[in-house]
Amino acid sequence: MTRTTLVPTGTGHHRMPTNAKHGLAPSSSSTLARAGRCTLVGAGPGDPELLTLKALKAIQAATLLLVDDLVSDAIVALAAPGARVVHVGKRGGCQSTPQAFIEKLTVMAVQEGETVVRLKGGDPFVFGRGGEETEHLRAAGIQVEVVNGITAGLAAVTSLGVPLTHRDHAHGVVFITGHAKPGDSGTDWRALAATAHSARLTLVIYMGISGARHIQDELLCGLPAHTPVAVIQNASLPQQRQAVCTLGELQPTLEREHLSSPSVIVVGDVLQGLLALQQPLSQQALRA
Ligand code: SAH
Repeated sequence: MTRTTLVPTGTGHHRMPTNAKHGLAPSSSSTLARAGRCTLVGAGPGDPELLTLKALKAIQAATLLLVDDLVSDAIVALAAPGARVVHVGKRGGCQSTPQAFIEKLTVMAVQEGETVVRLKGGDPFVFGRGGEETEHLRAAGIQVEVVNGITAGLAAVTSLGVPLTHRDHAHGVVFITGHAKPGDSGTDWRALAATAHSARLTLVIYMGISGARHIQDELLCGLPAHTPVAVIQNASLPQQRQAVCTLGELQPTLEREHLSSPSVIVVGDVLQGLLALQQPLSQQALRA
């Protein structure tokens, strides 16, 4: 396996990974005859045992893997010995490789006859920009297959032994991002809180750590301060850590426990039992 990390140069250009055997320059002839294929593969939350069989087979068959951040090394290690691995994320303190460049690289590699796997954390179609990538590749005439992965929110909640839905506590679940695209005003957390309260929904917030204080303040406009919350960092990995608290205590808990990204924040009454285990009996009696 050959590893490459793509580092944007800061000039708007990018160093192409060089490899004599698998040069990625577009070939002028026999492109169609050698056309490869591309599969967007969900790597799950990190634990290799949570990969689907389909994902494992695709990873093992790949000649080129374009790997996002948040894909664990143990999963990348499943690639075939001759495969080339290109990290296209922020690892090692690099800037994230711009999406357009990743898409261009994928098109060129497929045209060169590579069996490309775009390996993404969790599920490629849950906050993974998989939609944008498949649209672009299909527009370039490339067939893309998508293999689901277990999304982080699902694994995170399950790791606490708690269900996302429960007939007594939650009639549904909302996967939502805490981080809007630049220029987008983002989620109306107050409206969401009111809906979650009346419709009894579990909220699973991705990318919510940096905006946690704002999210907490806004959610408190529609949900009681004693609503249970869990924050799970590095779900499914050996370094997983978590904290359970109330919505009113979210930000101080994050600071006290030093919880950081990648984490999911889960809000809802499905966590009631878990919260009760954390609180002294006197506080539980006060709320009853
Ligand atoms: N496509 C991914 C989500 C990518 S967005 C999926 O389906 O899981 C990145 C966010 O996912 C992180 O900021 C964090 O909120 C969440 N995340 C990814 N891996 C995680 C993990 N192992 N533990 C907790 N949260 C994780």
